[in-house]
Amino acid sequence: MSLQFYNTISQKKEKFNPISDEIVKIYTCGPTVYNTAHIGNFRTFLFEDLLKRFLIHKGYNVYHVMNITDIDDKTIKKAKGDKKLFQELTTKYLAQFMDDIEFLKIIPADVYPKATDNINEMIEMITKLQEDEVAYLSKDNSVYFNLSKDKGYGRLINLSNSKLKQTERVINDEYSKDNPQDFSLWKSWTNEDGDIFWDSPWGKGRPGWHIECSAMSIKYLGEHFDIHCGGVDNIFPHHENELAQSMSATNNLFVNYWMHSEHLHLKGDKMSKAKGNFLTIPDLISKGFLPEEIRFVMLAAHYRTKLTFSLEQCSESRSALQRIYGLYNRLLKISNGNLEIFKFPSEYDNFILALDNDLDTPKAFAVFFKWLRSINTKLDNNQNMDNKDINGGIKFINVIDSIFGVLIKENFIPEEIHKLATDRAGYRKKGDWKAADRIRNKILDLGFLVEDGTDGPIIKPKK
Ligand code: AMP
Ligand code: ZN
Repeated sequence: MSLQFYNTISQKKEKFNPISDEIVKIYTCGPTVYNTAHIGNFRTFLFEDLLKRFLIHKGYNVYHVMNITDIDDKTIKKAKGDKKLFQELTTKYLAQFMDDIEFLKIIPADVYPKATDNINEMIEMITKLQEDEVAYLSKDNSVYFNLSKDKGYGRLINLSNSKLKQTERVINDEYSKDNPQDFSLWKSWTNEDGDIFWDSPWGKGRPGWHIECSAMSIKYLGEHFDIHCGGVDNIFPHHENELAQSMSATNNLFVNYWMHSEHLHLKGDKMSKAKGNFLTIPDLISKGFLPEEIRFVMLAAHYRTKLTFSLEQCSESRSALQRIYGLYNRLLKISNGNLEIFKFPSEYDNFILALDNDLDTPKAFAVFFKWLRSINTKLDNNQNMDNKDINGGIKFINVIDSIFGVLIKENFIPEEIHKLATDRAGYRKKGDWKAADRIRNKILDLGFLVEDGTDGPIIKPKK
């Protein structure tokens, strides 16, 4: 079977044919930097990381652009119209996002364009739409996209424009799909925006959220590129509107494959800041979770199914990962070290076939763990293994790690644990044994052991 992906626009799986043999171009909608991203957001970013890693494994070169939404209703509202606060806010949360990306071992995008650095490109695109009479200026000097001028509107949600019941126009970035409306491309300045505004041919104001992604994707990837990703909540109105604007402005196809990941849920509802049911990466770090554990929990479920997150499940993933690492070490110990002479196990092909089929990770892991169990049994029973098979097993696990990033490196200790161990050493120095013991127990609860070496504390993961 050849590589295929479910394409939101056709609502079916399609064989993946890149536009160029040289490079696959991907655009992923990045974070809105008004707050610390939650792990729901990271489910989507991890799905995109998996997609990218698998394409790389298949031998493609990937060029990946992820935008940073630093202007939208939410960033402006939070900064309360103060440009200095606005810049401080977005810089702070962008830095936090980059830390989280690094912690989670997500391969960084090639470019992270910020909306604030691309205002001219947005103005140019809006001007073009206005010249083509697909956009119009309203009385308050905002510019709107005219839905009735785009006969194909509704492409992504599979609704025909003629059947859409059009109502008022909408200035907000987000609105429901029951109510398709002329949407804003440029929002004229209001009192609440304070000193957060940019100059434009229509006076001071700011771009709408959707035009930001059209302008930045086209600037960095061209008018027609391979894959556009996001979470399912991006499909409408964000991606529908992005597609409408881009196709109208360029008369080109814009995107070949639209891929969307389902939501992460917590306590029975979609994880979201607005509902208050969320956890962040710093929350999980402070509970002692490893990046590999978080990656495993998120990636072991298929990206198009809803996933409910629980701390228990995250803890349980540790034993699965230790089994992988355990077998890896077992094979390394008996390997002749000549990894170039190897034979992949027969399960390897089925593993790749599962991923070729729209990234079927549950099936891929089922095939892998079945193989893992069979090899462990073989080794437990002292059955001989051929050198080629041993090396093939090591290579198989290396492939697992390159695609999923789940091989726990033995010495990885989260920063939080180092900090606790240092605090404990401080108490010991002062002779406060009670406080030192309390911290040792806390470290133990978080899954690590701390011992006292001559050069300071030695920390190990609890077996
Ligand atoms: P935002 O910062 O709100 O623009 O979201 C960044 C990305 O996270 C977008 O692709 C969203 O679709 C995605 N996203 C938001 N909430 C969730 C969730 N609960 N589960 C999975 N993805 C999400
Ligand atoms: Zn976007």
